[in-house]
Amino acid sequence: MSPAKRHYLDANATTPLRPEARAAMLEAMEAHGNPSSIHAEGRAARGIVEDAREAVAALFGARSRDVVFTSGATEAAALALAPPDEGTRLLIGAGEHPAVRLGHRYATENVQTIRLTPDGTLDLEALAMALEGGPARLALQAANNETGAIQPLAAAAALVHSAGGLVIADAVQGVGRIDCRFEATGADMALVSAHKIGGPKGVGALVSRAGLAPIPLLRGGGQERGARAGTENVVGIGGFGAAARVAMATREAEAARLGALRDALETGLRALAPDVVIFAEGPPRLANTSCFAGPGTDAAMLVIALDLAGIAVSSGAACSSGKVAPSVALLGMGVAPALAKGALRVSFGWDNDAGDVAAFLAAFGQVLRRRR
Ligand code: PLP
Repeated sequence: MSPAKRHYLDANATTPLRPEARAAMLEAMEAHGNPSSIHAEGRAARGIVEDAREAVAALFGARSRDVVFTSGATEAAALALAPPDEGTRLLIGAGEHPAVRLGHRYATENVQTIRLTPDGTLDLEALAMALEGGPARLALQAANNETGAIQPLAAAAALVHSAGGLVIADAVQGVGRIDCRFEATGADMALVSAHKIGGPKGVGALVSRAGLAPIPLLRGGGQERGARAGTENVVGIGGFGAAARVAMATREAEAARLGALRDALETGLRALAPDVVIFAEGPPRLANTSCFAGPGTDAAMLVIALDLAGIAVSSGAACSSGKVAPSVALLGMGVAPALAKGALRVSFGWDNDAGDVAAFLAAFGQVLRRRR
């Protein structure tokens, strides 16, 4: 008997490798030169890195020279979130990923968390109040990884800039899904990760507006214009560049396609469980994400039962795998801990289609019937 077909619905945790990224990586494996070498082999590897740099810069409407490749968004956060001087303050949205909340290089006394509104977006009044204390840098997501709530980056950036500060956008969940160009978001720096857009794991970038240089984290050789020492991950960067090009070219069409899948999923959910609560349903939300809970459900149990039925979804943030901790984004928007514990996240990616929605609803319905 052949094993049951799997339905992977966890794109916000990571995405399958796009064929274009795989092809680029296989090609890059043949380029064995060191990109810093000036001979032909070195220049071939350098060509791959620079081509990818252009593709990643385009996601933000930035210059290629302002892209610093890193080992992922976690490293990009640590690179971006360093105080330029002792007194600089950092404001952090309450729903940020641990890479930002815990990964910055600021002294604890200079960091302040800005609360969310009940719809899961940053409370702009609370931000304005925090800025009364003087200029500060703000770290804010383009969109939340758990609820998909799109954050008011442009409005927040206007407030932060008028107080003399800067905005660092965690664009990890936004890239390929919403417009993340600096001119649209107002951000000054942005973090991006290849594996959320169909690229490989373990590669990402910090992208800055012209003239903003990050404070290096890794020192040594002069790679990445001195901003990040270490021989570049040529294979990973090659895959990242290819994935970035597809993400950019397909963004609008994918938003429409995945939004239709998400709407079909939520219509089906409501038919199966009329008391289901869909989080961040009101504000603009990523078209691919649905985070929901039924009162009295246990997310860990549901994830296991669905997995046995061939469906991969996540409970809360899957980045902290193995840990079933309450979701910071849900708690931050005032969801009762008992309800937050039951939250499941379905997130669609480039490889999903209507068959995945049907399979999910069939399996979820069966799990609910068994529980009743
Ligand atoms: N920021 C957000 C919003 C994320 O969802 C993730 C990963 O889940 C990260 C940062 C960390 O990215 P990476 O896995 O590249 O370190």
